[in-house]
Amino acid sequence: NPKDIFEKSVQIQIEKLILERFEKDKKLVIQKTEDISKLVVLMEEYFNEAIFSSGNGSKKVLNIKEKIQAINLTNGGIEVLSKLQNELVVAASSIEQEINSVTNKLENGKSKVEELEEKINSLENELNKTKQENRKDFLTQVLTRKAFNEEMVKVENSYSRLKTQYAVIFFDIDHFKKVNDTYGHECGDVVLSTFGKILEKSIRDIDLVARYGGEEFIAIIHFNLDRELLMLLKRIKSIVTENSFIYQDKKLKITFSAGVTIRNKYPTYDIALQKADSLLYKAKDSGRNKILLDNGIEI
Ligand code: GH3
Ligand code: MG
Ligand code: MG
Repeated sequence: NPKDIFEKSVQIQIEKLILERFEKDKKLVIQKTEDISKLVVLMEEYFNEAIFSSGNGSKKVLNIKEKIQAINLTNGGIEVLSKLQNELVVAASSIEQEINSVTNKLENGKSKVEELEEKINSLENELNKTKQENRKDFLTQVLTRKAFNEEMVKVENSYSRLKTQYAVIFFDIDHFKKVNDTYGHECGDVVLSTFGKILEKSIRDIDLVARYGGEEFIAIIHFNLDRELLMLLKRIKSIVTENSFIYQDKKLKITFSAGVTIRNKYPTYDIALQKADSLLYKAKDSGRNKILLDNGIEI
């Protein structure tokens, strides 16, 4: 009854109800503030890492959190809180955008990196293949002189450490010019390539064969006993001289001359090389089709 409102007891009752209502609202607001505060802490932890380097979203969140913590709920807390809620939503959207853009950038970057990685791998493979191919002489498939010189550095290193005994052998095909002149350059090529194959097949993995010049080859042969070396030289000579080289319907007889030195008789590899070369020319001068060793043996 509206008239009752002027009654003191009713007024006291209403005042009590308002106070109760106010207390309940205050509790609710405190509870909600705590919820939002917890949410902000979680969001901050969750997003901080992801957006660390790319924007100010986490700063916004931090500011809001501080503001929420500073609210004095007894003085109009609800208004401040709802304003902050809005700010929180805006900050969250901005974090979301930043994360999306960072993720896109990362994904784009990742696929570009993967693409580049693939390209690098395939170029590396090609380069290695080309490098390996360049090490071999195109016609004879034995090492080029350049690759041989590179390999010799390793051979010499192991020689100075382990004193692994090896022979330096210079080969030169006899009267090769005549082969070209008689049967043509292409026939000469076939003879060279066959000769290269014979040498390559005669050596072991630790040994080397290279084309040193036109029809001149060099070999590095490791051995323990002198007779092993002699047997190898004899075998190469008999394979070359006792067989015919085939070109089209022609059968050719080929001989070669060679000079051989044993590395440990000389202070340096270069001196051993020069000596092998001079023995080769001695073999040529003394009739060809012979192998001369630096210990006076002739095969
Ligand atoms: P010698 O017994 O004194 O060694 O005489 P030779 O005729 O073998 O030596 P010479 O140095 O007079 O001639 C070598 C020839 O080898 C000349 C050159 O045209 C030929 N030659 C060099 N490289 C190649 C090649 O790749 N293919 C062909 N077919 N011939 C080549
Ligand atoms: Mg020759
Ligand atoms: Mg020659």
